[in-house]
Amino acid sequence: MLADMKSVDLLIVGAGFGGLYMLHKARSLGLEALAIEAAPSVGGTWYHNRYPGARVDIQSMEYSYSFDEALQQQWCWSERYAPQPELLRYANHVADRFGLRDGILLNTRVRGAHFDEAARRWQVFADDGRRWSARFLVMASGPLSSPNRPDFPGLQDFKGAVLHTADWPHEPVDFSGRRVAVVGTGSSAVQAIPIIAQQARELTVFQRTAAYAAPARNGPLDREFEARIKADYAGFRARNRRMHGGFGTLLPPNPVSALAVSAQERERSFEERWRVGGFAILGAFNDLLLNLESNALLAEFVRTKIRATVEDPQTAALLQPTHTIGCKRLCVDSGYYETFNRPNVRLVNINQAPIERFTATGLLSGGRSHDFDTLVLATGFDAMTGTMLRLDLRGRAGLRIQDKWRAGPLNYLGLGIAGFPNLFNIAGPGSTSAFTNVIVAIEHHVDWIADCICHLQAHDKSSIEASEAAETAWTEYVNKAARRTVFLSCNSWYLGANIAGKPRMFMPLADGFPRYADHCANVAHKGYEGFVLQ
Ligand SMILES: Cc1cc2nc3c(=O)[nH]c(=O)nc-3n(C[C@H](O)[C@H](O)[C@H](O)COP(=O)(O)OP(=O)(O)OC[C@H]3O[C@@H](n4cnc5c(N)ncnc54)[C@H](O)[C@@H]3O)c2cc1C
Repeated sequence: MLADMKSVDLLIVGAGFGGLYMLHKARSLGLEALAIEAAPSVGGTWYHNRYPGARVDIQSMEYSYSFDEALQQQWCWSERYAPQPELLRYANHVADRFGLRDGILLNTRVRGAHFDEAARRWQVFADDGRRWSARFLVMASGPLSSPNRPDFPGLQDFKGAVLHTADWPHEPVDFSGRRVAVVGTGSSAVQAIPIIAQQARELTVFQRTAAYAAPARNGPLDREFEARIKADYAGFRARNRRMHGGFGTLLPPNPVSALAVSAQERERSFEERWRVGGFAILGAFNDLLLNLESNALLAEFVRTKIRATVEDPQTAALLQPTHTIGCKRLCVDSGYYETFNRPNVRLVNINQAPIERFTATGLLSGGRSHDFDTLVLATGFDAMTGTMLRLDLRGRAGLRIQDKWRAGPLNYLGLGIAGFPNLFNIAGPGSTSAFTNVIVAIEHHVDWIADCICHLQAHDKSSIEASEAAETAWTEYVNKAARRTVFLSCNSWYLGANIAGKPRMFMPLADGFPRYADHCANVAHKGYEGFVLQ
């Protein structure tokens, strides 16, 4: 019985794509491993985020595991960008295919973990009181797994249904005949709004910051294209791993500054990439995310598209973002701006008229009442650190993670934390994580952790811990990388700016996946330089 298994070599928190691959890898090393998952299913993000329209925004031929050739050859995606139900089926297929289910404890929330210095082991405990002892603790708890639920005054008074995109009900939600409100206009809202609008009697969208969205150009996966990729899938993956974001080798960035070409040439390049769809537009020139002047040219191009799409000039004006493009994650849409031409859709600018409070029948903003039956909170996540900070996680000498990360998530390589020996973080702050095709980031982290454990075993060491000096230098490195980009020019979740009271620190590494991977490889090559091995 799993429940009786009190002591393991490696304990994994979470059974999303990170946890599943970590479990498989640990078992392949002969380690006794256990993954503990709060949800009743594997799949992580793709289990929780089941709102209408939820789908990946990196092409599925790229956003999928590469570690097993037979898996990548045999699995067939139905669309260019797979929808959430298919991604969830894929996660379940992986769990079955690799016989992982007997190593996963579902419906179990890890409440905390304390490092026992004498035993050099982690004591892990769950909400239901069960406990485990583990030599290694791997946090595969997700960069975007703690939904942000803003503390709106009076929300408890609202008598209608309240849904959160990141915690969507399992039974189908029927919006027909309903008056629906969506609060938030980030990636999830941009995907959900067009579909909700088709069903609802009325849809009111409450927008604080307008979103830049590029068309997905989604459709059935072209089977010839699939065959071409599969003819050399390993080569395709390897080329993607040398791309800045771990994807995009099909249409590499144009190696030219947006300022170095004529206005016509620039327009042609933007148009070409707009037709391709998705993130391709960000690669139209090599400095769009580095140089504010170049960035402004692309921002204006997208605003022109919005003006050309949205019929009502006032709504079109409100939908045009003014911040730097790409500074908040670029949304990838299917008919988002067009949706505002529907007679049943209204846009309310809560930047100008903030939400004062909720009432029994709706909300008040700018002195006006808006009534609706169903509220959809598309308010995002307490990203990258929120899930770890909800845990009672204590390292050496009882050091609490909340104290350690009081000013922001100090770490080394995104993988280790000084004071927290034998704890590894997957796709968390300090790594390229959210700036990467996250499956590429996950596979890289899992492989690095596995190699590290093998190294410890081969050298008869029982623990590894980041040094404070390495951690300080790395944190500065992450800051420096952000300062070379446009990412500090707006308030984004990368900075923690969407959560009241959260320290402002740029969390992901904006240095590009290849350079980061090389850095991690060098550290390993030099005997885990910057880590203390005992
Ligand atoms: C709507 C949405 C769309 C996205 N689209 C893309 C995309 O197009 N491309 C891309 O690269 N990335 C995308 N992402 C990022 C996505 O999170 C990653 O791609 C990837 O799925 C992360 O996998 P993970 O295993 O690291 O984390 P998750 O999938 O978040 O899994 C973590 C798991 O840990 C569990 N957990 C957390 N805390 C505990 C605890 N205390 N006890 C037990 N279990 C716990 C959670 O329940 C969850 O199931 C998207 C994210 C969201 C939310």
